[in-house]
Amino acid sequence: MNPENSVFAIFHKEQQSEAPVELLADDGLSQLSRRRFIALSSLSVAAVAFASRLVFAQNKGIVPTMIDSAAKAKIETHPLRRNISVLEGSGGNIAVLTGKDGKLLIDSGFTVSKLRITEALNGLSSDPITQLINTHWHIDHTDGNAWVHSAGAAITAHVNTKKHLSTSTHVEGWQYTFPPASAGAIPKTVFDDGYAVHHNDTQIALKHYAPAHTDSDISVVFEEADVIHVGDTLWNGIYPFIDYSTGGSIDGMIRGTEHNLSTVTDKTIVIPGHGPIGNKASLAEFRDMLVTIRSNVAALKKQGKSLSETIAAKPTAAYDLKWGQFLITPSMFTGLVYSGV
Ligand SMILES: [Zn+2]
Repeated sequence: MNPENSVFAIFHKEQQSEAPVELLADDGLSQLSRRRFIALSSLSVAAVAFASRLVFAQNKGIVPTMIDSAAKAKIETHPLRRNISVLEGSGGNIAVLTGKDGKLLIDSGFTVSKLRITEALNGLSSDPITQLINTHWHIDHTDGNAWVHSAGAAITAHVNTKKHLSTSTHVEGWQYTFPPASAGAIPKTVFDDGYAVHHNDTQIALKHYAPAHTDSDISVVFEEADVIHVGDTLWNGIYPFIDYSTGGSIDGMIRGTEHNLSTVTDKTIVIPGHGPIGNKASLAEFRDMLVTIRSNVAALKKQGKSLSETIAAKPTAAYDLKWGQFLITPSMFTGLVYSGV
């Protein structure tokens, strides 16, 4: 593979421009695996410099950046409808259903936020946590599984969430390999297509998407309240990450968004994986952004442009001011789309 044409090469360039002096730091090199060190020693100087940027990105990449941000973030509570609230600030948005059967959580955020999430949960009610549902396997939605399980929650998720959490899983777009999760963090109840839960006088429908952001995405509908958590099939007002390593793709994201649009009404409250609480209009805006940028990038790629040339042509320009202000930069998002067209 030509490194110039990889999504994470772009990410590494951005990292390099932020902190060039650390690229060849001894502590980075000392963390190289022995195998990798041996491989590096046979490479050219330029290749070693590139590989060292990989090491830097592994040490200071997107995943540690997300954890650092969660460690500092306040947890904000947004009451939605009936007994449903959202906690925002630790990785993905956490939905909470309170009541006599105990709290049911959708996603568990990062472990570094345990204390502040616990405070926010206590602020909602004194019910214990009894159930946890994961929208997909990613760390920013499942890292807190172990402590939430220890606090009393049984965990439910799609069968592929269990699969990815149970083994070592590499995400190329993050240049990160996740070790298997601890036993308590792994969902015990899993399903393939759909699953129904009745909890706190609420009917809750879980439904698997065709591969979209990953191959483990599910939606969670609170039927009486007309509230849906769509996980990372929606990043409301921000460019999304797409995990090609575990089944995601730009076309899958578009199909997932079309599916979301077909299941909601103007009254439905839509909880995105990331970003502020949304509605049907947010889904339509997200779909239009995905479709337009996909078309722009596909046209450039069809002309034979490399990823660098495609990024230089700024196929996302009309959207950057609004959508490019979070974790996934315009050039990274261009790379993610380029990989799938
Ligand atoms: Zn995700």
